[in-house]
Amino acid sequence: MTRIDQNQYRALFEHSSDAMLIIDNGRFIDCNDAALQMLGYTTRQALFETHPSQLSPPNQPDGRASFDKANELIEQAMKEGSRRFEWIHRKLDGSDFPVEVLLTPIPDGERMLLHVVWRDISERKKAEERLRLAKHVTDSTSEGIIVTDMDRCIIEVNPAYCRLLGYERSEVLGRQAGFARSGRHDQAFYRAIWTALEADGHWQGEIWDRRKSGEVFPIFLRINTIYDAAGNPCYYTGLFSDITHQKKTEEQLEELAFKDALTGLANRALYHQRLQQEIKRCRRQGRRLAVLFIDLDRFKGVNDSLGHTSGDLLLATVGQRLSEAVRAADTVARMGGDEFTVIIPDLEDDFTVHDIAGKILASALEPVSVSGHELLPHLSIGISLFPRDGQTVDDLTRHADRAMYQAKSEGGDRFHFFLEALNEEAGRRLTLEIEMRKGLERGEFIPYYQPVFDLASGELTGMEALARWQHPQRGLVMPDDFIPLAEETGLITRLGQHILDLACGQTRQWMERYGRSLSLAVNLSARQFNSPDLLQQVERILHDQRFPANQLTLELTESMMMGRIESTLQQLDQLRGAGINLAIDDFGTGYSSLSYLQRFPLTTLKIDRAFVDGVLADRNSRAIVRAIISMARAMELDVIAEGVEQVEQLDFLRQLQCRKVQGYLFSRPLPAELFEENLLQDPEKHRSAVLSLG
Ligand code: C2E
Ligand code: CA
Ligand code: CA
Repeated sequence: MTRIDQNQYRALFEHSSDAMLIIDNGRFIDCNDAALQMLGYTTRQALFETHPSQLSPPNQPDGRASFDKANELIEQAMKEGSRRFEWIHRKLDGSDFPVEVLLTPIPDGERMLLHVVWRDISERKKAEERLRLAKHVTDSTSEGIIVTDMDRCIIEVNPAYCRLLGYERSEVLGRQAGFARSGRHDQAFYRAIWTALEADGHWQGEIWDRRKSGEVFPIFLRINTIYDAAGNPCYYTGLFSDITHQKKTEEQLEELAFKDALTGLANRALYHQRLQQEIKRCRRQGRRLAVLFIDLDRFKGVNDSLGHTSGDLLLATVGQRLSEAVRAADTVARMGGDEFTVIIPDLEDDFTVHDIAGKILASALEPVSVSGHELLPHLSIGISLFPRDGQTVDDLTRHADRAMYQAKSEGGDRFHFFLEALNEEAGRRLTLEIEMRKGLERGEFIPYYQPVFDLASGELTGMEALARWQHPQRGLVMPDDFIPLAEETGLITRLGQHILDLACGQTRQWMERYGRSLSLAVNLSARQFNSPDLLQQVERILHDQRFPANQLTLELTESMMMGRIESTLQQLDQLRGAGINLAIDDFGTGYSSLSYLQRFPLTTLKIDRAFVDGVLADRNSRAIVRAIISMARAMELDVIAEGVEQVEQLDFLRQLQCRKVQGYLFSRPLPAELFEENLLQDPEKHRSAVLSLG
C-alpha cells in the first residue's frame, strides 16, 4: 500500500474545492485558496486576523446567536470526534451563503487543532427551496393534479384532486387514470384524447367525471407529457379544474343572452338562431314554414298615458297569450318593443297559418286589466312563407314585417300575407281569399233582405237578397269588397248557392208563417251563369228548400248575356222553362242590343240606381227612365226602380206608372229578424207608408 507523504497532504489541502481551515484556540492559523475565495478575502493574513465569529451573521436561521451556537458545536465536535451541520456564513462584502460544515478535532501534541471543511450548498439550498415551493403550490392549489407513468398508472396526486373526486390519496395511487369516468363520453372520445397526446404531447378540453359519491360533474382537463433529459416521454400530468360553477354561469348567461327578460319568451337572437335551424331542416325535408310578425296596435298610447309599468304588463300578457295560441313546436319571440314573432315550422298548408293567425287575433281580444283600466289589445300580423317568400332569415323576417305594415295600414287587428312575386294588392287578395274560404265554412256569409213594393197598391211584393259577410274582426263587410274577388277565384259559385239556399229557406218559412206570397230576387254572378249545371244547382236548392220556382227571380246583368248569345239563350230558356223568373239588373248601364233583348225570355227590368238618382237634376236620366218604363210596358215586363232615396224621385216614378220600387226611402237591406219585425209582422203599416209618401 503506497502512502502519500506530507507534501502530498499539503497539496490535497491546497487544491480542494471545499474550503478548508485550521483553527487553533479560537483563531484561524491556516486555510486554503477555496476558503479565501468563498469568503471574499484576498490574503490569508486578513483572514487570520478575523475572529471566526465575525464570519457569520449575528444569528443563525433557527434564531440562536451564531457565537453561542458555534461554541456549542465546537465543544460537541471535540467531545464526539467530529460534527457535521449546516451554517450560514457571511462574506467580506456582507452577503450570506449557506455551507455544510464538517468539524474535525486533530490532536497536535498538547494542543487540539480543529480542522474545518466548508462545502458551499447554495445550489442545493435553492433546489430544495424550489421543491418546497412547488410542493406548497401543488398542495395549496385548488386545481386537482395527478401524475401518471407511461402506463397511465397514477403515481402522485395533490390534495385538491382528492377533494375534487372525494377519494383518499391511498385509494387513488396505483389506479389507472380515467378510473373516474362518468359514462357520458364514448370510447371514441377517450381514444381521441390519447391520439392527441401521442401526436402533440398535450390535450385539453371539457370532460365529465364521476366523484366517489357517484355525482357526475364537469371539469376542464389539461394533460401534458413530461419528457426526460433525453427527450423520451416518461410521465403524464393531468390538471383538473372544476367547472361546475362556470357551466352554471354559462347556462345563466345563455339564458340571459337568449331570453327576453320581460316575457320569458325567446329574444331576437334566439329567434334568429331558431329560424336558421328550421329553415335548414325544412329545406332538407322539403317542408314549408311560416313566419308571423306581430305588432301591438296603438301600444305607444298605452305607454304614454298609463306609464311603462302598465305597458310592460300588457306586453307580458300578450306574450303569454301568444305562446298559448301556438303549438309547442312553434317559437314565439319578442323582438323588442311591442314587436313579436312566431315561427311555425312543418306547415301543412296556408290554412294552418290562417287558423293560427286567426286564433292569435282572437286570443288577444280578451281585455287585460292594467292599473285599473281594461285594455283590449289589438294586433297586426304579417305572414311570410318559406320557401315562397324567402330563403333566408333576413328575407323572411323583412317580408313578414312588410306584410305586418300592410295589415296595420288597413286599420290593424288583422293579418296579411306577403307575396313577393305579386304586389301588395295580391297579398291582400290572398289573405282575403283564404279568409273567405274559412268564412264560408263557418257560415259567416248571410243574406240581408231589402223589400220591394208595388207602387200602386203600396203592397210588399217581395225582396232582394243581398250578401253580407259577418267578419269576426272586421264586422259587416259589404259585397263590393268581396264579390269581385269571389268571382275571380271561383268562390262565388259556392257563395251564390249558399245565399240562394238560405234566402229560399228563409222566404219559404216567412210565406208559411205569414200565409202570404213573397217574390224573392237573388243575384247571379257571371261565373254562375256560365256554369253548365246552373239549372241543376238551382233546382236542387228549390227542391231542398221546398221553394216554388215561380216565386224566385234570378237577377243578371246585361254584360253577362251579351257574350255568347246562343248559349245564353239556351241557359235562359232552361231556367225560364223551369218556371224561374229572370230580371236584368242595373238596366241601362250596358249597351244591350234591344233586338237580342227581345229574344230573351225575361220577366223583369231593374232600372239602375244611377238613373233614379239623376231624375231630379238630369234631363237625360229622366229620358232614359221614361224610355225604360215604356219599353217594359211594351214588352210586358215587370219594372223595378232601384235606389229610390227621395220622395221627389218617387213622385216622378209614380207619374210614369213605374210598377215597383226598392230603395233606402223605404228600407235599407235588413238582417232576417229585422226584416221580419219591420215588414212582415205589420204589413199594413208599411203599405200605408208607401202610399202616403209622395
Ligand atoms: P245590386 O244587385 O245592384 O244591389 C243593389 C245595391 O244597391 C245593394 O248594394 C243595395 O244595398 C243598394 N241599394 C239599395 N237601395 C239603395 C238606395 O236607396 N241608395 C243606395 N245608395 N244604394 C241602395 P249592396 O248590398 O252593397 O250590393 C252591391 C252589389 O253586390 C249588388 O248590386 C250585387 O251586384 C252584388 N251582390 C250582392 N249580393 C250578391 C249575391 O248574393 N250574389 C251576387 N252574385 N252578387 C251580389
Ligand atoms: Ca240586384
Ligand atoms: Ca242593381
